[in-house]
Amino acid sequence: MMDIPVSKIVSYHAHIYFQGDEQRAAALLLRERIGKRFAVALGRVHEQPIGPHARPMYQVAFNPETFASFVPWLMLNRMGLTVLVHPNTSRARDDHLVNSLWLGEVLPILHAEELAEADDPASRIVPNTGVAP
Ligand code: ZN
Repeated sequence: MMDIPVSKIVSYHAHIYFQGDEQRAAALLLRERIGKRFAVALGRVHEQPIGPHARPMYQVAFNPETFASFVPWLMLNRMGLTVLVHPNTSRARDDHLVNSLWLGEVLPILHAEELAEADDPASRIVPNTGVAP
């Protein structure tokens, strides 16, 4: 079997999930702490589940160079919250379902059939480190 080169990963997302007032408060505090410490793009807070994400959350987009400092910090400082870390290659379905990692609870990925299965030229052009709409 052929290796998938790591260079396929143009960026990563960490999705920080929350449920209920207590977790929401923790998530907002964590968002602030992340923003102060790391060169990342903080997405806006989604108060309702959106797209493939089963709970309210916000996205943190970051470059591959940031992974080695940010993800270990998140492991130790996630305040009990569930986090999905996934690569962004040109295969969104595998990025979320197969090649992702979870901190804490593992949540379902919804509507996975709507995520691009094969190389999607559109997703290759966009580096995807910007703030989510
Ligand atoms: Zn994502």
